[in-house]
Amino acid sequence: MHADRLAGVGVSPGAGYGPAHRLVRDIPEPPRAARHGGDARAELRRAEQALERVAADLAARGDRAGGEARDVLAAQAMMARDPDLAARVAELIEQGVAASRAVFDAFTGYRELLAAAGGYLAARVADVDDIRDRAVAALEGLALPGLPADPAEPYVLVARDLAPADTVLLDPATVVAFVTEEGGPTSHTAILARALGVPAVVGCAGASAIPPGTPLLVDGSSGVVRLSPHEDEVARAVRGAEQNTALLAAVSGAGATADGHVVPLLANVGGPADIAPALAAGAEGVGLFRTEFLFLDRVDPPTWREQQDAYREVFEAFSGSRVIVRVLDAGADKPLDFLPPPAPEPNPALGERGVRMFRHFPEVLAAQLEALARAAKGTSARVQVMAPMVATAEEAAWFGEACRAAGLPSVGVMIEIPAAALRAADIAAVTDFFSIGTNDLTQYTLAADREAGALAGLQDPWHPAVLDLVALTAAAAMGSGRDCGVCGEAAADPALACVFVGLGVTSLSMAAAALPRVRAALARHTVDDCRRAAAAARAAGTASAARTAARAELPALADLSL
Ligand code: PEP
Ligand code: MG
Repeated sequence: MHADRLAGVGVSPGAGYGPAHRLVRDIPEPPRAARHGGDARAELRRAEQALERVAADLAARGDRAGGEARDVLAAQAMMARDPDLAARVAELIEQGVAASRAVFDAFTGYRELLAAAGGYLAARVADVDDIRDRAVAALEGLALPGLPADPAEPYVLVARDLAPADTVLLDPATVVAFVTEEGGPTSHTAILARALGVPAVVGCAGASAIPPGTPLLVDGSSGVVRLSPHEDEVARAVRGAEQNTALLAAVSGAGATADGHVVPLLANVGGPADIAPALAAGAEGVGLFRTEFLFLDRVDPPTWREQQDAYREVFEAFSGSRVIVRVLDAGADKPLDFLPPPAPEPNPALGERGVRMFRHFPEVLAAQLEALARAAKGTSARVQVMAPMVATAEEAAWFGEACRAAGLPSVGVMIEIPAAALRAADIAAVTDFFSIGTNDLTQYTLAADREAGALAGLQDPWHPAVLDLVALTAAAAMGSGRDCGVCGEAAADPALACVFVGLGVTSLSMAAAALPRVRAALARHTVDDCRRAAAAARAAGTASAARTAARAELPALADLSL
C-alpha cells in the first residue's frame, strides 16, 4: 500500500490535479559486451551523427522555448558536442566497442566525475544522463525519452528528476503539475516551473514509486501531494484555483497596499525573451536583469557591441520605466567560461564570484559598462546598474566609481551577504540604492548551499535571521534616503512580500508569473497589516512559526487562496 500523501518542497504555487504520468526515460543500458562489426570508422561516424542530432535537437528545443530555457539547453547542447567526450567515444570504438555502448560508457564516466565533484557540478548530472540516454536511443533506433507525444488527458508529470529538455516544452494545458523525487528550490526544475507557471513540488521522497495512473492532487505552495484524493477535496481545490484566478485578474494597475502605500512591482528578466511575459503581467519596470544569462554558453567575453543590442531591446520595451541591470554575476551556481576563477576552488559559493571577479577581469566590466552606457543613451528607460555579491563598502565604492566613470550615474549594490546587511549604512554612504538578493542571503545566513537539494529545509527565507537582516538593510536604506528593493525568489511569495513591505522594503521584483498574486496580496492589506505581519514574523523562533504568525496578520491571503 502506498501512503495517501507525500510531502516535498513546494516551488511553484497553484493546485494541479490529474493522473500520474511517469516520465519515459528508462532507456535500456546497451549490453556490456556489445561490439561493432569491425568497421570502426563507420561506427564512429554513427556515434558522431547521433550526438550531433541530440545537440541540434536540444538547441532547437531551447530556441523554441526562448528565455532562460534557451540558455540552459544551449549549455546542454554544448556538453553533447564536448570534444573530450567525443575523443573518449572514439577511443572505445577503436577498441571494438559498439557505438551505443561507447557513448554509454563515456557519458557514465563523466557523470561519475561530476557527481564526485559535488555542488554545482553534481547538480548537472541529470543533464549528462539525459544526453547519454538520447544518444543511445538514437543509435538503437528507440523512441527518444521524454514526454508523451499525445496524452489522452492532462496529467501530473512524475519523475526522479527533470532535465531541462524535459521541462522547457511542457505545455501547461497538458501538464497540470510536476513532482520530482530529487531537486531543490533552486534546481532547473524549480526555476523553469516558476517561469512556466506550472505548480511543482520537488524533493518529494517516494514520488518515483507512485504507480502510473494514480490520481494526484498537487499543491505547489505547501508541497503536499495527495494520492487518490476524495472528490470533495479535488472539487474544493479546483474551485479555489478558479476563484483565485478570477480574484487575481480583478486586481490591476500599479503595486500599492489597500491604503495607497506605493510599492512598484518589477520583473526579473534574463534577456529579450522575457520581455513579453513581463509586460503582459503588468510589470512596472525591471528590478533584476540577470545579464549573465545572455552569455552562459560563451567561451570568449562578449564585446560591447554584441551586448549593446540585447540591452537596448530590453530598455526600449520598458521606455519611461526603471530598468535595473545587474552586471555579470559569474561563479558558483552561474559559471561563465570567460570569467573563470583564477585558481581551482574547493567551495565556489565562498570563492571568486560576482563583483570579486571584476578585480581579475576589469576589461570585461569595462566592456559591459560601455555597452550599457551606449544602449542607455538612445532610450528613455531609467537605467540603473548594480553589482552582485558585494561584501564591503570598499567594493561598493570601487564599483560605483567604475560605473560613474563610464557615464552611468545611478549605481546600486545587491545585498546578498550578511556582512553587507549588517553594515548596510556604510554601504549606503557610497551607493544609490540596494536590492536584496534573498536567494544568496538565505544561503549565506544559514550556511546551506542553495544547490544542495538535501538542505532545502534550511534554505528558507522565512527564517527570522534572514528577516532580521532584511530589516537592518531596509532601515539603513531609509536612514540614508535610499531605495531598497527585494529581487530574490522570496519576493514572489505573497505573504513574504507583505512582510518585506512591513520591514520597509520599497519595491519588489520577481518572475513575471508571480506578479498578479503579489499585486493582489498587497492590494488587500494596509501598510499597518504588513508591519504587524513583519513584527510577528521576526518575533517567531523558527521559519515555520514566522510564516504562520505573519499569515495570521494577513487574513485576506486565505480569501485569495494565496
Ligand atoms: C539572489 O541571490 O537572491 C538573486 C536575486 O540573485 P541570483 O539568484 O541570480 O543569485
Ligand atoms: Mg544572488
